[in-house]
Amino acid sequence: MQLEAMYQEVILDHYRNPHHKGLREPYEGEAHHVNPTCGDEVTLRVHLDGSGQDATVADVSYDAMGCSISQASASVMADLIIGKPVKEAMAVGEEFLALMQSRGRDIAPDEDVLEDAIAFAGVSKYPARIKCALLAWMAWKDATARALGEAS
Ligand code: ZN
Repeated sequence: MQLEAMYQEVILDHYRNPHHKGLREPYEGEAHHVNPTCGDEVTLRVHLDGSGQDATVADVSYDAMGCSISQASASVMADLIIGKPVKEAMAVGEEFLALMQSRGRDIAPDEDVLEDAIAFAGVSKYPARIKCALLAWMAWKDATARALGEAS
């Protein structure tokens, strides 16, 4: 299980040294999401450049507490979507959601799209942990919807 060990290492690495962590200004949308089954919490802010269909994710900042999977996922997500057009970032989110819903089946996740997020492939085998991995993504979707609502 060399691959699984490598994935574990990626997750632990992001957990120990989270990227883009901390709440920053300015921001147009904020969301607070809780995963009660595990006790994870995340407060996440989105700063967009532009508005509507052409908006770009200028920054994603967050404060998270909870298990290693939820925190590592927020770090990986911020890496993946900062600088991307919102539409493209949403597509990455859909790809990650599909991976989480694969229940460990071999769906051959697209590493070019998901980058470090493929490390969470093994998590999809544990239904209780899927919410941990998706928490930040859900908060980001929510915060972005608010940001777009305010911008238009
Ligand atoms: Zn958790």
